[in-house]
Amino acid sequence: EPVQPVELVQELVARHQLRAPKPVHFQVSMPGAVPVCFDRLHVGNVISNLIDNAIKYSREQVTIGIRGEAEGQGWRLTVTDDGIGIPRTYQEAVFDQFFRVPTGNLHAVKGFGLGLYYVRQVVERHGGRIEVRSEPGQGSEFSFWLPA
Ligand code: ATP
Ligand code: MG
Repeated sequence: EPVQPVELVQELVARHQLRAPKPVHFQVSMPGAVPVCFDRLHVGNVISNLIDNAIKYSREQVTIGIRGEAEGQGWRLTVTDDGIGIPRTYQEAVFDQFFRVPTGNLHAVKGFGLGLYYVRQVVERHGGRIEVRSEPGQGSEFSFWLPA
């Protein structure tokens, strides 16, 4: 089922806001309508996984920035958090199957290490790309681009 990105993001933000186990402050910025539609199920799961991680790998509260914008012949979504961050040595590995960063609050949160593997598979199968930038103790930024 095709859906406008802005509509999908708003829907997911509302859903995560409701069930979050800690205070979550969303800062959503999606200037201008973009002339693209995405598959609700797959792209929705991608965004949902990134929001889920931002909430899980943070402290007592978290501020999550979501910025969506047209870029080239497609759409870029950037999800930032002020959580625990990811040490540089592990930043590539987080997209591997079953990989979980062995430091930080790993034992405090449940997970299989599959979310980001799935995210990268979906993004790449749609012809897109995903990148991570992170500073331990400061936060993380996951950014993906999908062709229209
Ligand atoms: P699940 O399969 O339930 O998603 P998971 O969250 O452990 O389990 P991934 O989503 O693939 O698995 O993430 C892999 C690992 O990358 C996490 O275990 C965590 O160590 C690290 N990570 C992912 N997102 C973040 C983030 N926003 N901030 C800090 N660490 C992160
Ligand atoms: Mg996850």
